[in-house]
Formats: sequence, C-alpha cells, structure tokens
Amino acid sequence: MTDFAKTRAMFDIPEGMVYLNGNSLGPMPKASEPAIVSFLNDEWKTELVKGWNTRNWFMQTNTLGDQVGRLIGAEPGTTVVGDTLSIKVFQAVAAGLALVPDRKVILSDNGNFPTDLYMVEGLMKLKADGYTLQTPEPEAVLDCINESVAVVMVTEVDYRTSRKHDMKAIIEKAHSCGAVVVWDLAHSAGAIPVDVDGLDADFAVGCTYKYLNGGPGSPAFIYVAKRLHEVVEPALSGWYGHAAPFAFDVAYRPADSIERMRIGTPSIAAFKLLSVALDIWNRVDLNDLRSRSIELSELFIREVEKRCPGLKLASPRDPQQRGSHVAFRFEHGYACMQALIAAGVIGDFRAPDTMRFGITPLFIDAEDILRASETLEDIIEKKTWKQDHFRQRLQVT
Ligand SMILES: *Cc1c(COP(=O)(O)O)cnc(C)c1O
Repeated sequence: MTDFAKTRAMFDIPEGMVYLNGNSLGPMPKASEPAIVSFLNDEWKTELVKGWNTRNWFMQTNTLGDQVGRLIGAEPGTTVVGDTLSIKVFQAVAAGLALVPDRKVILSDNGNFPTDLYMVEGLMKLKADGYTLQTPEPEAVLDCINESVAVVMVTEVDYRTSRKHDMKAIIEKAHSCGAVVVWDLAHSAGAIPVDVDGLDADFAVGCTYKYLNGGPGSPAFIYVAKRLHEVVEPALSGWYGHAAPFAFDVAYRPADSIERMRIGTPSIAAFKLLSVALDIWNRVDLNDLRSRSIELSELFIREVEKRCPGLKLASPRDPQQRGSHVAFRFEHGYACMQALIAAGVIGDFRAPDTMRFGITPLFIDAEDILRASETLEDIIEKKTWKQDHFRQRLQVT
C-alpha cells in the first residue's frame, strides 16, 4: 500500500494552505532545493562541459522518459522528455499525418485544450494542401472516426470538466479505420492509471508540471509505440534526434529509436527538478492513487453539494468517468475563487464560470477536503465574493 502520509511529508506546502491546484502546477518537493543547489555546485560549476558525459546529462531525456513511461504504461525506451507540450503535440500530429499520407482529416473535439488545436492549425498552414481539423462535441468523437480520418487527436481527461474519453474504444475504432491516435495525457499522467502499451496506443504526449510536480515549465514528454520507431518521420528534425549527433553530418538522419523525437539541447537544471519529483512516484502504486483520488473527490462533491446548493457539478457524477479534478459551475466563479484563494484554499478558474479543484492524494487528505468545503460554504453564505477586489481579473486565472 502506498503511504500517502509519507508522500505528503515530501512536499513543501506553505503552512495553513490547502492546495487544490496540483492539476495545474504541482507543489515543490522538499528535495528540490538541495537537488538544484547540488546541480549548481557539483555539476555545472565543477564539471562544466564535461558534465554531458560525467553526469550523463545527454541521456537524461531517456532515463527520465523511462520514469514517466512507467506511469503511463510505456515500456522502457518508448518515452523521452524535453521541450514543451505544445511542441510535442505538433511533433506527434505531424508524425501521425506522415503515416497516413493519403488522408487529410484531423479529428479532435471542441473541449480539447486550445493549444492542441492551435498547434494543428499552424501545422495545417505549413502543409497547405487541403487538411481539415474537425472539432465535434467530445461525446461525438467516437462516431466521427471513419476511413477519411488520418489522425485522431484527443486529450484523455478534459481540462475543464474532468470528463474522460474512452481510450480503449477510440484506439480500437481508429485502428479498425486505419487512423492513428495522438493522446494528450496532460491530465492523466500521475492522475489516473494509463496503459499505453496495453491499449496499443500510437502516440502520447503530456506535461510534467501538473500532477508530476516537476516545477513551472518543466519538460514535456512524448511516447511513440515501439512498432513505429523506425517509420515515424520527425518533422522537427533537430540534431539531438540525429542517429549520430556528434558526426555533425550536414544531412539529417533520424536515430533508429525514440531518440528521434528529441529536438535540441534541453534544460538540465529543469531535468534535475523533474528527477527528484519523479523519485517520489517510485513509492506510489497508481491503483492506490486512483482509489484515494476517487474517495477524496466523492467526499468533496458530497460536502460541497450539501453546503453550497447554488454550485453545479460540472464533472461527471460517475467517478469512473472523471480524471482527478472536480469542477463546479457558479455564475460568480471567478470572484468566488479569488475569495477562496485569499482564505488559503487554492484552486483555479476557467472561463466562463468553472471553478476547478485538483484532488491529488500525494499531498491532499480528507482534512484538507473538509477545510476547503467549509471555507467555500462560508464565502457563499457571507457573499464574500462580492468584494470589488475579488472581481478584478488577474492575468493568469
Ligand atoms: C496544460 C496543457 C497544455 C499546456 O501546453 P504547454 O505547451 O505546456 O503550455 C496543453 N494541452 C493540454 C491538454 C493541457 O492540459
């Protein structure tokens, strides 16, 4: 059994704060500070350029990738970390389209995170030969998969409502129609068990700063099924993905492994922070995590519905259909969330009226859930959210 009291003790969360936003930015592990100081003093300062060999900086894309891979059901050697999720989405969709060159349809849904859709728009402009992006309602995606679709690009867990797509059904239908699937696991990795190899997934991408706690802007990841390693064409053909980067050949030749999805020199300081965050996950059984997340989410929903009848659950009521955050709609959601934050309960807000609460068992327990519900009740009851300063929109919501 995973000892969640122990994992909780491994994070540095300010005294008195209830942090329900690990679905947006994970908190800082206590090990982060000594790790970054040691990186500065014992690696960069002393090793300088030798560090690429002596500290194995060059291959951390792969060693950290394998650690992330364990959390999404990917066998070693199929996942690398680096770049940003937006870039990894571009890379995966471009590679997917090249596998099905006679088709011109990319299928996503109108609940997908906008950057995923924007990156596809940009990619289609570059290709300039009749591609279309379809964005039906999320519930209609399965029915829209047919023989005209080249790539299905979907995010497993909806960033607003927490509604889950059925990965198995989508992959099976796509494959039976000759399409490939790109999964965005931004709200799945470290939130729910995923089994990309078991489901015969093609591509998966995600970020490490949400549930995985790698720090603001920590590197993204990309998974490519082993059967595709020698056939995928890297559209972003950087030297770090070359078969022999130090041959400094003038012509690009992709590595014959997942390394071909590497692009350019990564931030090793960011890797160090990610590394200590991923070490915490070695103690975690994902099935334990899932049960606990459901238990805490159910408690939160029950308490909020009992105390604040004006709030409407925006997430599926069936826990099996949800990821690991819970969303409530409230007309004055923005101001209400600002009042909550001022009272030490941190969630966030997504336009037009959704308040999101990340339920992250690594560092949240039932006491936190009760305190958050009580604080929310107090704010609604006293209408604290009406204060002017809670209504002024900040740049990041
Ligand atoms: C968080 C998130 C992103 C963010 O992309 P970045 O390039 O890291 O800014 C993209 N897609 C989804 C589905 C997300 O949840």
